[in-house]
Amino acid sequence: MRELFTKLGRQVEQFKQDVDAAAAENADYECPACKARFVVDHEECPNCGSAEIAPREPTQEPG
Ligand SMILES: [Zn+2]
Repeated sequence: MRELFTKLGRQVEQFKQDVDAAAAENADYECPACKARFVVDHEECPNCGSAEIAPREPTQEPG
């Protein structure tokens, strides 16, 4: 049964990557230390542990 779990694990991993990519598009917060983006504010960065999660500025198109 271990092979089944390995296969499921890969699918879950791919799903997580897709979700992360989609979330980054809509992220309102960013960790200045590691540039990780978050949809919700965190007290500290889950990625690097920094306590400085900052709201992102809306991106403006040049022109
Ligand atoms: Zn970070």
